[in-house]
Amino acid sequence: MTSDVNEGRRPVPTILQGQKALVTGANSGIGKATAIGLGRAGADVVVNYVFGKEAAEEVVEEIKSFGVRAYAHEADVSQEDQVVPMVARMVEEFGTIDIMVANAGLQRDAAITEMSVAQWQKVLDVNLTGQFLCAREAAKEFLRRGVVPEVSRSAGKIICMSSVHQIIPWTGHVNYAASKGGVLMLMQTMAQELAPKGIRVNAVAPGAIRTPINRSAWDTPEAEADLLRLVPYRRVGDPEDIANAVTVLASDLMDYVVGTTLFVDGGMTLFPGFATGG
Ligand code: NAD
Repeated sequence: MTSDVNEGRRPVPTILQGQKALVTGANSGIGKATAIGLGRAGADVVVNYVFGKEAAEEVVEEIKSFGVRAYAHEADVSQEDQVVPMVARMVEEFGTIDIMVANAGLQRDAAITEMSVAQWQKVLDVNLTGQFLCAREAAKEFLRRGVVPEVSRSAGKIICMSSVHQIIPWTGHVNYAASKGGVLMLMQTMAQELAPKGIRVNAVAPGAIRTPINRSAWDTPEAEADLLRLVPYRRVGDPEDIANAVTVLASDLMDYVVGTTLFVDGGMTLFPGFATGG
């Protein structure tokens, strides 16, 4: 069970009122929390999924309860002929796109000597090519439309879901770490290229977040204790921790933030192994 870190707190201000967001891989884990978080902050949201229509429709219903629009769209983000029509439909239905959250991702773990080309390629296709395709299609629409000052100071926002493994090597996950290292350069290069056109590109890099992708790392007390040795803040993150970061990063509160990775990791990137002097 995940807890909602927003529970019992003051409502999130509608800092994304009138904006249109698309979140990929939005029927599970971080993507689901993010789609709901953006909706709660006032955005209309497209909930992308590749399988699990029912779960996607549940997310849509929750988002609609905030009084904004939402619909689910099935597409494999690694396939150009599915991403292009996904964004085209959004422009048709919502009029445009203001926020692209390229979140969809997966793992296919193996030791380097055991890893098949299929395992390597699948992870690169979804985690890296998928982000490229989604960002490219969003950027085209941002450039076509330009800045609409009543909606946002920028012409559009792209948020890449990265990982602490964009900088931390990870034995047994060479495909995943390579894909996230690639996301860092994809994000920074797009940011450099698109900032002069008023588009903000940034990344959010989660640490250990309680989702299905890493269930074995937290679903027993022993596994969780082991994991927490790597987290100075001594708690496993919730999907809402990431959703909150994405929501603020996508808003004009962060309008001067360009080409940055926001680590949301309880301090995992502080090299906790050196906390006692190394
Ligand atoms: P998750 O498995 O709950 O969610 C991943 C989502 O991506 C699912 O909805 C899945 O169906 C979707 N997806 C997979 N392949 C797809 C495709 N080809 N097209 C469209 N959607 C596809 O896992 P999560 O933890 O929520 O992961 C979300 C993102 O966060 C991933 O990019 C992951 O690398 C990143 N991340 C997660 C953690 C963590 O600790 N959970 C840490 C760092 C980074």
